[in-house]
Amino acid sequence: MAQQVRGVVARSKGAPVTVETIVIPDPGPHEVVVEVETCGVCHTDLHYREGGINDDFPFLLGHEAAGRVETVGSAVTKVTPGDRVVLAWRAPCGECRACERGRPHLCFDSRHQGSPMTLEDGTPLTPALGLGAFAEKTLVGEGACIKVDERADPAAAGLLGCGVMAGWGAAVNTAPVQKGDTVAVLGCGGVGDAAIAGAVYAGARQVIAVDLDDRKLEWAKGFGATHTVNAGSGDVVQALRELTGGFGPDVVIDAVGRPETYQQAFEARDLAGTVVLVGVPTPQMRLEMPLIEFFGHGGALKSSWYGDCLPTRDFPLLIELFLQGRFALDAFVSERIALDEVEEAFHRMERGEVLRSVVVL
Ligand SMILES: [Zn+2]
Ligand SMILES: [Zn+2]
Repeated sequence: MAQQVRGVVARSKGAPVTVETIVIPDPGPHEVVVEVETCGVCHTDLHYREGGINDDFPFLLGHEAAGRVETVGSAVTKVTPGDRVVLAWRAPCGECRACERGRPHLCFDSRHQGSPMTLEDGTPLTPALGLGAFAEKTLVGEGACIKVDERADPAAAGLLGCGVMAGWGAAVNTAPVQKGDTVAVLGCGGVGDAAIAGAVYAGARQVIAVDLDDRKLEWAKGFGATHTVNAGSGDVVQALRELTGGFGPDVVIDAVGRPETYQQAFEARDLAGTVVLVGVPTPQMRLEMPLIEFFGHGGALKSSWYGDCLPTRDFPLLIELFLQGRFALDAFVSERIALDEVEEAFHRMERGEVLRSVVVL
């Protein structure tokens, strides 16, 4: 029987989000209905609302979630009702050219739900990143459900579903940071701080946090930054060189994703160093730089989609590190809010007042 629950919907470009009644169909053979317990507020939800991802309104927002499996489709084998799961927006298909070459972390065709969730009047909803988890329940593909240890607080665990995984993975999987490396991270929000924690885990000998906001630099120290640079107080490239013996860091991670920060990352790294872009630029942004610099500087320029994570491998690992006290996953939870407070949480996120607001259902 189809169920009616409450969910956060973006109806049109730029309009404030609203809590609506939504209809969840019974799961098809490879689908799962999840009772959502928590869901973090991510910049990507705001990008959907602003029409920056695509025009498939109305959207059912939310994609950083933990919950419990309620009902499973007839062919589901990976989870059973009652399991605690974190939802992943990368659910490798096993059949695309990336999966077939043994690179499921690059899968180009994630398997999400096929049956539409709808508004009460039957209008189909587009679930954010195939999940749509700012809702009391959501319908997802089986591959999106990653079973995790019961003992982890779901408000913390759910954050692995997007921003924290993206940042940690940018350092550990994409760069990848090697033991003894010097690392700088530009932008110390949730993604940047997770990259700092990842660099520490990977054995960096120096982890330099860069931001315009002193309060964020303090938070960054809590995640293991060994040095901080306030980007507003002078030349960032020069400051990073001075902190690294005059050479620049081996790895610079741009967790902002603007032309200015990317250029700083490009110029600040050591010769043959690595830049990782994990902050998401807008389609309008342009970069103009001398091509000879790309040749002359050598090294690697990488982008990190979702931290190049493989959810089945990385979510349980990070939960284990959290439970052992080796990864402060709960420190990303700045506040716990209700489902009807998402719009205000967007504003706090834009003002940089929180690492993560987490909706608790
Ligand atoms: Zn695939
Ligand atoms: Zn996200």
